Amino acid sequence: MTELDFIKRNWERVLERIKETAEKRGRKSEEIEVVAVAKGFPPEYIREAINAGITKIGENRVQEAEKKISQLKDLTCEWHMVGHLQKNKVKKAIKLFSLIHSLDRLELAYEIDKIAQRENLQVKVLIQLNLSQEPTKHGFIETEFWKLYDKIFELKNIKVMGLMTIGPLTDDKSEIRKVFKKLYNIWDRLRTEVKIDIPYLSMGMSEDFDIAIEEGANLLRLGRIIFSKEFEVRR
Ligand SMILES: *Cc1c(COP(=O)(O)O)cnc(C)c1O
Repeated sequence: MTELDFIKRNWERVLERIKETAEKRGRKSEEIEVVAVAKGFPPEYIREAINAGITKIGENRVQEAEKKISQLKDLTCEWHMVGHLQKNKVKKAIKLFSLIHSLDRLELAYEIDKIAQRENLQVKVLIQLNLSQEPTKHGFIETEFWKLYDKIFELKNIKVMGLMTIGPLTDDKSEIRKVFKKLYNIWDRLRTEVKIDIPYLSMGMSEDFDIAIEEGANLLRLGRIIFSKEFEVRR
């Protein structure tokens, strides 16, 4: 027993909940992947999580991620960028992360493509949509997205792997569900009508991942429910 054992217990509980919710919906839990979002938590927590079987670690700041990655060089995991990315951090970010969840504006797509070309890299991204009409949130609004998505898909050094959204900050589950349904429908339309192969639908955080699973998410971004000692779901 160590004082960080709670992380393993949290993770086991999360896996059970994913399995239960998925099966209730007739989904296979193996198709649902988890990014453990470690922002604000120390490197030892990440080490514990990886030892417990977690394979994807999320961060929302390039600098914080860079530091942790260098401290955990002996471990094998994928690092995902889930936060808003500034243009002046692109060069670092595309080398550190295997997936950027937060492509939230066209200008950023052009910048990533430009620098990736220079560095001879292909950068995997998810396009972030803002579907909850909260003006403080980053991401494309839906009408804007349909006008310009092909401009992103045609960039040679970017590979779009899917879509991402952040659920609205509310206790109203039907509002949250509405947003997740919207993202699913956009994803589905891109795959079936536009016929682009984008495997990932990144939605669901500690407080709303059950709803996200029910609405088709296959990449959850879970922070506190894995890394907090005493996390209680409010809803
Ligand atoms: C912090 C964060 C998460 C994880 O949030 P929790 O509520 O702690 O699970 C997920 N996605 C993004 C974009 C985040 O910034």
